[in-house]
Amino acid sequence: VSADAASLRNIPSVDEVLKTPVASASVERFGRTSVVKAVRAALSETRSSMRGTTAVAAEAAAIAERALTQLELQSRPKVRAVFNLSGTVLHTNLGRAQLAEAAVEAATAAMREAIALEFDIGEGKRGERDELIRELLCELTGAEAATVVNNNAAAVLLVLNTLAKGRESIVSRGELIEIGGAFRMPEIMSRAGTKLIEVGTTNRTHEKDYVGAIGPKTGLILKVHTSNYRIEGFTKEVKADKLAAIARKHKVPLFNDLGSGVLVDLEKYGLSHEQTVAEAVAEGADIVTFSGDKLLGGPQAGFIVGSKELIAKINRNPMKRALRVDKIRLAALEATLQLYRDPDRLTTTLPTLRFLARKKAEIESAAKRLVPAVAKAVGPAFEVAVAACASQVGSGSLPQETVPSAGIAIRATNGRSSGRAIAALSSSFRALPVPVIGRIEEQTLVFDLRCLEREDEFVRNLALLNPAEKR
Ligand SMILES: *Cc1c(COP(=O)(O)O)cnc(C)c1O
Repeated sequence: VSADAASLRNIPSVDEVLKTPVASASVERFGRTSVVKAVRAALSETRSSMRGTTAVAAEAAAIAERALTQLELQSRPKVRAVFNLSGTVLHTNLGRAQLAEAAVEAATAAMREAIALEFDIGEGKRGERDELIRELLCELTGAEAATVVNNNAAAVLLVLNTLAKGRESIVSRGELIEIGGAFRMPEIMSRAGTKLIEVGTTNRTHEKDYVGAIGPKTGLILKVHTSNYRIEGFTKEVKADKLAAIARKHKVPLFNDLGSGVLVDLEKYGLSHEQTVAEAVAEGADIVTFSGDKLLGGPQAGFIVGSKELIAKINRNPMKRALRVDKIRLAALEATLQLYRDPDRLTTTLPTLRFLARKKAEIESAAKRLVPAVAKAVGPAFEVAVAACASQVGSGSLPQETVPSAGIAIRATNGRSSGRAIAALSSSFRALPVPVIGRIEEQTLVFDLRCLEREDEFVRNLALLNPAEKR
């Protein structure tokens, strides 16, 4: 009998492991099925690591501990909260808008209860789910009719497919955008079954370019908000009101994809002016689309507002069913839109505007309060100071605008290996129970505090920081 075979015989059985106190406690927490599976996996791992060596702990208790660690890791939610201290308020990778309390409550109630989703309570018969928010959307945008789908990308796809399938869509070369990922206007057009007719040049497009492209096959004229970039210098674009006149004259619809949906004048909150949906509707576009989770501050959604006739046509497209939103989001959307009826209080009630409207001085005070706790957590290998920074709106909204902000800057005291030290520290912050997401600039870890509201939670979380230097 070889030494290997002898030690493998010493490995406990599944039943022996299950009899340990740790395994019994695990069964209480995770259920027998999961524990048996984890114990089997731990045993098989132990068996393979024992080949060629006898120096591996194979007691039942050790195996049970191993299985428990694995179960704890597996049960930790992957969808979990982080502190967004990146300086980008609407960070697409961090879930964009944080919802208003009213929206959270409405969504929670809708999840738990049966709701009149497609049911006309007055008449006692079938209704339309869009009816739940149509009135609010029309009131806030001045549009005749409205509908809602999964996101703005879906809204664009559905509008193009409904109004221009098998026909031509005219768009300026200066507006053939890529939003990120695979959302590129030319590709969306081809998927929607419409033929892209590019007009003008990258920097200059004139009225005559659009007029010259209109023909018997024209399905629509498309105007796209160049959300995430600006063309500067020798430029010319045809504004939507001029395009609306051209479209009307030639009896083709004008579709304006706004991207970020702004429902209030942002200047009131100290930001630069961004065209509102109501303004875009008033300019004469037949259809306007915009996002729910960008500057509007709601859940992911895509709104389509415009003429009654065209919205009815869009709603009859069988693709609408594939792109519709569920009751949870409709509840959150309705509650979010309701807040806009009281615009004076939006900087309290709507997190997106509350964050964006926060004054630098207030954020700086927070930074001063938090520096000692951060310094204590990172230890003497780093210096921690209050720093000025510039927040961004994010998600392609107001791309050139930064909002003066403040935060905490952390540098390594030993300059020689500071790049590596900062990267390691940043990773320790991300390993916290509530991961802290900042950004690294010139070997400095920066936490922009614009979006930090729960300071006491932040400090409690910090106590668990385990930077490599302290280990
Ligand atoms: C962001 C954006 C989209 C896509 O909107 P989602 O809601 O992210 O799907 C489409 N068009 C424009 C102009 C945008 O800015």
